[in-house]
Amino acid sequence: MLLTCPHCHRKNRLPPARLDQQPHCGACKQLLFTGTPLELDDQSFASHAGADLPLVIDFWAPWCGPCRQFAPVFQQAAPLVEPRARLVKVNTEQAQGLAARFAIRSIPTLLIVQGGRELARVSGALPGGELLRWLQQHLPPLPAE
Ligand SMILES: [Zn+2]
Repeated sequence: MLLTCPHCHRKNRLPPARLDQQPHCGACKQLLFTGTPLELDDQSFASHAGADLPLVIDFWAPWCGPCRQFAPVFQQAAPLVEPRARLVKVNTEQAQGLAARFAIRSIPTLLIVQGGRELARVSGALPGGELLRWLQQHLPPLPAE
């Protein structure tokens, strides 16, 4: 399967069985999973959305109180959800193209996207337990070998 490096944004091809063995990027040699949400803009988003690994996207803005409340909840979920998916953050003030493309009307809004296709969406700052339940419900299983 294809996944994009969070550091150099190059695509890596990896057997799914190696996902949980702390894989490194073939180009920059850094870890492909960092246990923390990745900030993406219009440009870097494209290289991640075009890969096979599902993305869980937190659309947020710096002026939004509930978004700031939700940030540590999202952060704590990252090491639990990797390597099944990558958690990413999109600042809707900066990445206005993405906010328009995904028709984000309120923030925070969470989306699960795979191969550019939206699988699920929920609006509002979920408590940690609900976030994990929602992810469990909607994340696709890892592909078999
Ligand atoms: Zn890299």
